[in-house]
Amino acid sequence: MTTAPPQSPPPRPPAVDRVLSWPGVQALARAHGRPMATEAVRDVLGLWRASGEALDDQALLAAVEQRLLNLIAPSMKPVFNLTGTVLHTNLGRAPLPEEAIAAMVSMAGGASNLEYDLDRGQRGDRDDHVEAWLCRLTGAEAATVVNNNAAAVLLTLNSLALRREVIVSRGELIEIGGAFRLPDIMTRAGCKLHEVGTTNRTHGHDYADAIGSRTAMLLKAYTSNYRIEGFTAAVGERELGAIAREHNKPLVVDLGSGSLIDLEELGLPREPTVRETLTKGADVVTFSGDKLLGGPQAGIIVGRADLIRKIRKNPLKRALRCDRLTLAALEAVLRLYGDPERLVQRVPALRLLTRDRASIEALAQRLVTPLTRWAGPDLAVDVVPVKSQIGSGSLPLDLLPSAALRLQPLTTAKRGRSRLLQALSRRLRQLPLPVIGRISEDALLLDCRCLEQEQAFIDQLLKAGSR
Ligand SMILES: *Cc1c(COP(=O)(O)O)cnc(C)c1O
Repeated sequence: MTTAPPQSPPPRPPAVDRVLSWPGVQALARAHGRPMATEAVRDVLGLWRASGEALDDQALLAAVEQRLLNLIAPSMKPVFNLTGTVLHTNLGRAPLPEEAIAAMVSMAGGASNLEYDLDRGQRGDRDDHVEAWLCRLTGAEAATVVNNNAAAVLLTLNSLALRREVIVSRGELIEIGGAFRLPDIMTRAGCKLHEVGTTNRTHGHDYADAIGSRTAMLLKAYTSNYRIEGFTAAVGERELGAIAREHNKPLVVDLGSGSLIDLEELGLPREPTVRETLTKGADVVTFSGDKLLGGPQAGIIVGRADLIRKIRKNPLKRALRCDRLTLAALEAVLRLYGDPERLVQRVPALRLLTRDRASIEALAQRLVTPLTRWAGPDLAVDVVPVKSQIGSGSLPLDLLPSAALRLQPLTTAKRGRSRLLQALSRRLRQLPLPVIGRISEDALLLDCRCLEQEQAFIDQLLKAGSR
């Protein structure tokens, strides 16, 4: 009679140091650095310990290499924004003009006159590079720039209304994208919010009656990401400006998108320009650099020279300032605005927003065949009319006619379809240049408005091959 062989215990993972001494791992350490190779080995051995799943030497080496490549892969990468939202905050908002990219590249690698006056050979101000352009393009007396428009609002409130009251209509107590709520910013800026009027109706006398000795300013926030309709009344800049002037208080307008040009002339929905807002009576206007302006992320503050001076002197300005790359890009974009004839073609945000439906549709048609091949036999691909959105809280109710590739699962089972759509979105996101679309009803839509790199899009589909 033979006894049963003793149950052999599962193989235990080798020691980290032993694996690190393998020639294959040594080669990885030489190519990518020892700390990263060590971390990869630890991670893989940790997984082995946690899962109890043993690996032979070859599989272990392959797992270490894969882990290492994942660890050092860049996290940020370009994507195709086919969501149909042109200024998509999660996807980085406005694509920059070539001129702005070139300006950033030329400033990136070395020293520059960022805060140095080359004429006088002494310290300068970083705002100097953009202030004259901002004044020229908006009619303002002075201008300053910070990291984004939320910072611009915070800085303006803190500079002009610390420990005093700011009068705002109840219809304009806005929240933008979750974290930016006007009442919260106001508290953090050290100001006291004085709400007037009602959600749907606020009148001039509501503001006038609220003005007192503790009032620092009147604030108007442009409600760009929603609209109150029906029985409504709001006080325009002209009337509000007159009330503010009469009581000798500044009127500050948070314009949000802040276009520098009349978008109606481009066939786009109307949006107040910075210039007209100042002309109507605003003393200070704040707006974003990467919304309708089509530039880098920045918060631009323009207006009366004495108020801008106060804002610039606030120590918080130092904490909220923008870097040399942003200023280089912004200066380049503003220069493009000096030549309105060629502006729309050179500023991608404006070019994409004004792209006509027919050319988007023609592009989408050219992509049907490569996309069908890539998608495989379970999906039907066709082209459908859709509406794109401007995005970034701009004009949410105004939609732009566009065309999308529609990918539909051929299976009829409802659950199967939604699983296929999820898997399909994931496959698109996992491409080397991830493709971001949107699921609508029972299909995945790829709005082609923002697709300009047609060949790169086709090439990666061909390279990825079909299922
Ligand atoms: C977008 C927006 C902001 C915030 O601007 P960021 O540049 O995103 O910081 C503030 N106010 C209004 C009215 C906006 O539309």
